[in-house]
Amino acid sequence: MTFRLYPNRQTEQSLRYHRKLHKDLYNAAVYNRFTQYQKFNHSISYFEQQNSLPAFKEVWIEYKEISSQALQATLKRVDFAFERWFKGLGKRPKFKSIRHYSGWTYPAKTGYSVDSNGENGYLVLSKIGRIQMRGKAKYWGTPTTCTIVYRNSQWYASITVEVLAQVFQPKVLPTGAIGIDLGCKSALSITDGENHQQIETPKFLRNAEHKIKQASKKKRRKIAPNRKKKIKASRRWKRADAKVSKLTRKVANQRLNWVHQVATEIVSSNSFVATEKLEVTKMTRKAKKGKRKKQKAGLNKSILDVGFGMLKSTIKYKVEQIGGVFIEVPTKRVKPSQTCPKCGYQHKKTLDIRVHECSICGYVQDRDIAAAEVMLYWATGNLMGLGTSLIDAESPSSTSITRKTAGSMRQLGAKKRQKSKSIGLDSETQTSTK
Ligand SMILES: [Zn+2]
Repeated sequence: MTFRLYPNRQTEQSLRYHRKLHKDLYNAAVYNRFTQYQKFNHSISYFEQQNSLPAFKEVWIEYKEISSQALQATLKRVDFAFERWFKGLGKRPKFKSIRHYSGWTYPAKTGYSVDSNGENGYLVLSKIGRIQMRGKAKYWGTPTTCTIVYRNSQWYASITVEVLAQVFQPKVLPTGAIGIDLGCKSALSITDGENHQQIETPKFLRNAEHKIKQASKKKRRKIAPNRKKKIKASRRWKRADAKVSKLTRKVANQRLNWVHQVATEIVSSNSFVATEKLEVTKMTRKAKKGKRKKQKAGLNKSILDVGFGMLKSTIKYKVEQIGGVFIEVPTKRVKPSQTCPKCGYQHKKTLDIRVHECSICGYVQDRDIAAAEVMLYWATGNLMGLGTSLIDAESPSSTSITRKTAGSMRQLGAKKRQKSKSIGLDSETQTSTK
């Protein structure tokens, strides 16, 4: 849980000072590792650095006022950066300037205390003082770790807690089974076979892309910093940069809230969810040629892809948490948007055809709802024509309850397949005739 901190002038100064101390320690530890290796071909371990902390504090007495565990946590950060580098996951660790140094961590229950019931309150940091904080935690308990972060000229405290109360879990699973199509026109098309619902992406998300684009356009016109040419950022650039990051942050928060709302609502009445295996690249418009291609791609990614990917993974997480079943339909094989949910006949539809109209059985339905229906029927083993196979679907197996349900669903699928075989409509023959 992250709280925003509102330090007064004095505590702000202390926070800055502590951040600088941690930054210096970080750089010293990085330097220590490199020089030891270059001079003596010796790779220093985390424990060697940790053990030299007391001696270090004797020389640099200003560190005596910082809790040892917080200092150790900073050394851990260095260790982590090197580990990542050795494993080829990260770049060679660099010395960090204060601007790129985010903050520090209290890894245990010492060095800080929290005076809050989960909503707003105060954070007391030893040697720094009492700081007002604002924010609301979903779950609250005894704080275990606390990380201080400085970002975009604002201070935050990220606090993890041991939750005392049991996580809410309904005793009776909601019985609903639905198919969801994540389209680009309306965000979500949901169906249980009888009732259909479409949830649009909120306007602020749709507008956000445009707003951020304009803000970054303005930023590009200002004098940007360039280290090689020794150009410092202009004040206007800094201001524009702050605006862009503020906007991006705001949108990210809004999106997160929306995603949670939608997922919670879905899971409140459904425990069986079938949706497509998402291939995000298809959904976002590709940028046309030119040097802004990369920028555009990045922007698309931040606003649309993450939104849908996040929506899906949040729904998945919540469904599995209550012990439900989440099935990802292999779209390449099933082709939800090309198949008639009622008779299983496959029509080719281009993207601009928004209505499904079956030439065989005459079924007419919105394109995305029809796709959601196909996925639901396929996952439950009720799709005509195409033999449905639950074994091929990626069903979860995280909890025992889920596994049990998935097992019975599998049996159901097997039965269905036998049936369809007997009337000569096996999935394989179907696909090979295409
Ligand atoms: Zn049909």
